[in-house]
Amino acid sequence: MSDPGRNEGLDEGVWDLVVVGAGPAGSTAALAALRERPGLRVLLLDRESFPRDKSCGDGIAPHVGEVLDDLGAADVLDGWTPLEHLELSRGERRVAGRMARPVWVIPRRVLDARLVEHAAAAGATLVRHRVRTVRRTGSTYELDGTIRARVVVGADGAHSAVRDALGAGRVARRALAIRGYAPTLPERQGRQVIRYGERRQPAYAWAFDRGDGWSNVGYGELVGGSRDADPPTRQVLLEQLETLLPGSVPDGTDWRAHHLPLSGWRSGGAQADGAVLLVGDAAGLVNPMTGEGIYYAVATGRLAGRAAAQALADGTPASAGARHRQATARLLDRHLHHTWLAARLSRSPAVVGAGIVAAGRDHRVFDTLVELGLGDGRITPRLAAGLVAGLVRT
Ligand SMILES: Cc1cc2nc3c(=O)[nH]c(=O)nc-3n(C[C@H](O)[C@H](O)[C@H](O)COP(=O)(O)OP(=O)(O)OC[C@H]3O[C@@H](n4cnc5c(N)ncnc54)[C@H](O)[C@@H]3O)c2cc1C
Repeated sequence: MSDPGRNEGLDEGVWDLVVVGAGPAGSTAALAALRERPGLRVLLLDRESFPRDKSCGDGIAPHVGEVLDDLGAADVLDGWTPLEHLELSRGERRVAGRMARPVWVIPRRVLDARLVEHAAAAGATLVRHRVRTVRRTGSTYELDGTIRARVVVGADGAHSAVRDALGAGRVARRALAIRGYAPTLPERQGRQVIRYGERRQPAYAWAFDRGDGWSNVGYGELVGGSRDADPPTRQVLLEQLETLLPGSVPDGTDWRAHHLPLSGWRSGGAQADGAVLLVGDAAGLVNPMTGEGIYYAVATGRLAGRAAAQALADGTPASAGARHRQATARLLDRHLHHTWLAARLSRSPAVVGAGIVAAGRDHRVFDTLVELGLGDGRITPRLAAGLVAGLVRT
């Protein structure tokens, strides 16, 4: 990465593609664009230098590996132990089982730096720079008055400056979560543990074993959409974590909290026509049931990179936004309808309890819940029937 704060060279000529934010969404967008058209001039900007930490549960769904495999970057998962067991509980109700496919728990300091390396190796120019403004000037865009681009990808996370510049507005439903790292307790080894709380749903604590003696531990809950809504304090978040998963906080370290912009009924609300594309958290794409966002980040990053490259190849960069919106809707919207509904239903503690009971009685329901929460699953008739039966029994 270029020296922090030194931006010489950025203003030379017009970049084909400028990607703002080098998290999973941004690095994947840069990589996908360059795989589609290796000769593109791609600038990847981030306000931080890598490796850098990011507040996250570090849970990597198998679907992430599939997207990255398609881009020749699946080796970012190398050296970390796959996890096969998941335990869900609420109060006295508990289910534990083997997932159909393993997940990974990889610190974002490692994962994101590896992805950035892939983007740079493919030809992206990586520079530390914080973007503040994006303005249209004729047929190109100007970032901070000096950097010019034919196409811009906004991959700058939950508080996206690019999204603000588009006038797309703030994502209405948000969660706030804190995470730290703590030594793995013997009873939590080799598994992801999720324990639901009583506060604003979705509210749960987690302990995800990294496989190296440490676990990612954390707690998150829904917050109001408006800026003046009363968010939980750091102390409340840590108290909830310790209440739900005792032993997590006293030896925990590296605590970091962050917002999660939860997805709604469909994907494309904020995506305007034109050549500014939104991906990942900047597009408001985080699973509203579970807070998982890395799969959506890499999936939409890949689509945005391709849409940008194809629009540039056709000589119609302004068509990139519509292409990206349509491709994202094709990939995610049916799934998002189902997670939207599931998140609404699971605001009721009785439904969460019924889901745990149903998953305990029928492993296919367990698999369906995992797929809905981690990847691109749907509410199946079997899950619906299991929920009804669970509700009748409770
Ligand atoms: C506590 C917590 C736990 C979570 N747990 C999980 C989990 O276990 N699994 C999962 O899948 N998801 C989880 N998520 C969600 C996940 O972290 C996000 O969905 C994911 O990071 C989104 O990736 P992204 O690339 O869109 O954004 P980010 O990862 O946020 O990356 C954005 C990048 O943009 C940069 N940036 C920001 N503003 C600017 C600017 N103005 N100019 C230049 N650069 C800028 C930032 O430095 C950052 O590198 C969790 C989130 C939180 C807060």
